[in-house]
Amino acid sequence: MAKIAIVGCKRIQDQLCISCAKCLKAISKREGEFARYKDDDKIDLVALGDCGDCPGLIMPKVTLMNEITNMLERDYDIIHLGTCIVKAKKTGKCPLDFDQVTALIKENFDKEVIVGTHNY
Ligand code: SF4
Ligand code: SF4
Repeated sequence: MAKIAIVGCKRIQDQLCISCAKCLKAISKREGEFARYKDDDKIDLVALGDCGDCPGLIMPKVTLMNEITNMLERDYDIIHLGTCIVKAKKTGKCPLDFDQVTALIKENFDKEVIVGTHNY
């Protein structure tokens, strides 16, 4: 069973991409970046939240996310950066450096980071 969390762009999540229905569909159908879990019987979506807002507050936000998941005894292994964040980076002025974020999350929380979620 894959245990994952999704972090989305605060400026897009539930504003321009509503109710996170796209990522939930991709999880259900094992599409996009979730195709990597096609052999897992279940994807356990432990947390689904935002990045903490500009100008790049993702590390304090992930710290808070981990505090609550630890408190609830709901550990996870992988953080997906949502397609919304990828779009914010490509088409907006998102300041996040994916390589830096990936390294910091690995170093501080020992979680793998995958950039992207759905392809819709
Ligand atoms: S890309 Fe995924 S995480 Fe981001 S807002 Fe859309 S559905 Fe939610
Ligand atoms: S830091 Fe990037 S992902 Fe977060 S709200 Fe700003 S533009 Fe969106």
